[in-house]
Amino acid sequence: MSLFKITKTTKPLVSRCMSMLVNDPSYSWLSEIGIKEVNDGVYNGSWGGSGNVVTSVSPINEQPIAQVVEGTVEDYKEVVRASKEASKQWAMTPAPVRGEFVRQVGEHLRDKLEPLGKLVSLEMGKILPEGIGEVQEAVDIADYATGLSRMLNGKVIPSERPGHMMLENWHPLGVIGVITAFNFPVAPYFWNFTIANVCGNACLWKGAPTTPLTGVACTKLIADVLEANKLPGGLSGLISGGADVGAAMVEDPTVNLLSFTGSCHIGKQVGAKVQSRMGKLILELGGNNAISVMEDADLNMLVPAVCFASVGTAGQRCTTTRRLIVHKNLIDEVVKRLISAYKQVKIGNPLEKGNLCGPLHTTAAVEAYKEAISEAAALGGKIEVGGNVVEGRYVEPTIVTGLPHNSDLVMRETFAPILYVVPCEDFEDAVAINNEVSQGLSSSIFTTKPEYIFRWVGAGGADSGICNVNIPTNGAEIGGAFGGEKETGGGRESGSDAWKQYCRRATCTINYSKDLPLAQGIDFS
Ligand code: NAD
Repeated sequence: MSLFKITKTTKPLVSRCMSMLVNDPSYSWLSEIGIKEVNDGVYNGSWGGSGNVVTSVSPINEQPIAQVVEGTVEDYKEVVRASKEASKQWAMTPAPVRGEFVRQVGEHLRDKLEPLGKLVSLEMGKILPEGIGEVQEAVDIADYATGLSRMLNGKVIPSERPGHMMLENWHPLGVIGVITAFNFPVAPYFWNFTIANVCGNACLWKGAPTTPLTGVACTKLIADVLEANKLPGGLSGLISGGADVGAAMVEDPTVNLLSFTGSCHIGKQVGAKVQSRMGKLILELGGNNAISVMEDADLNMLVPAVCFASVGTAGQRCTTTRRLIVHKNLIDEVVKRLISAYKQVKIGNPLEKGNLCGPLHTTAAVEAYKEAISEAAALGGKIEVGGNVVEGRYVEPTIVTGLPHNSDLVMRETFAPILYVVPCEDFEDAVAINNEVSQGLSSSIFTTKPEYIFRWVGAGGADSGICNVNIPTNGAEIGGAFGGEKETGGGRESGSDAWKQYCRRATCTINYSKDLPLAQGIDFS
């Protein structure tokens, strides 16, 4: 039972005669994760929503899947009030008890791995192994956070004063607002929620407006665990909606930390607003990731790595490889082998086995792909392979050569499977080209020389937050916290010491002597 009431919509629902995939027997698995024809999109212990009724359309076949009743700014206020209230109780709950709750959430995710992974594919468009892989990342971080709940250790610090000691204590912040992007509709919420929760915080989530069903399905699963444990729903609130509810969360001083995943453009606005109210921030923004290829690279490792990292998720990963910086003596051979590999890529329904490249998420993304291809051709670039729309939202993965490495087109993130290949003279040149973009998300080098490996990961090497060697730009693991540098934002999510961002640090000086060695020479009696 929630303390706070969310209004239910009184607006007429979209025509019932519209045929929804949720009613098609071949999608009956949607009911296993609680998806109905019309779904409430707001949760704070009870479900509701009084905003627009939106239809989630699958990029696979452009068919409506089901509908969601979004929240309004008024609904947001009720959700955040519930989260604030829940955070007070949770802060006083022992961390291992919090960890036990997160462990149960992880178990529920494990049980629903397949249908939730299928929903990610159906609603976002990534191939099923990647959809399931994304849910597995949520399972993995729940396991990690469960262990972490017994390791949130502070420090005892020796004092320079006699009869004194110092403690470093970590306490919860309160309410964590999480705004996420369409391309990872599951994992980023759990990277934030599981760790923030064991640290003693309450979270509230606004997912992307084009993947509302995934947000509803994940929250239903968490709500089941909350309700089974008689815990307040405000520990994991949901507000489905667009920029208006996102902006309300960004501006709200009740939200102690705002964790935002999305484009650099929106992230800059969000960052400035949160900063102006002195709120805490994690920004996980866009990337323009590159792989550098040295003359000594093992091409048998390189070619599959580039193919997966550039074509996978149809180029819609934040860590997709968008630039390939190849030693001038190898460039012809690398391009030849990549063309051959690209020609074998199967494009099609991401739920069908064998397809490597699914659709782009929206028709706007198809337009952005077409514009980038036209711009490349106008600038004198050569389309080595691809360059065409197949049908609907399906496009051909594309390789472009012959563009200057510092042209506007190469320097910006086009969220589509387009790879720009540029030559470099040597290691120093590769580092300079890698680092010249404004984003700083992920980079990788393929080399067999220890000298290059250690220079690459050193202070004078790649300047991105993820800095790989002999694996592609999207090869990150939860144990190492991810996050970017430069215009990719700042802050870290997931593993290692990321938990400290969801806490405030108190440095406590304790005087256990009988003296107060301050203001000597004054009689205070
Ligand atoms: P986007 O910036 O358009 O939207 C992200 C989220 O912000 C959505 O939930 C959206 O509704 C919300 N939003 C929009 N305007 C807002 C406002 N004024 N105030 C508050 N919230 C607002 O991004 P997208 O198109 O959904 O996602 C793709 C982008 O996200 C790419 O640039 C990609 O690189 C980036 N991304 C980064 C990471 C990372 O870990 N660094 C991960 C995934 C995606």
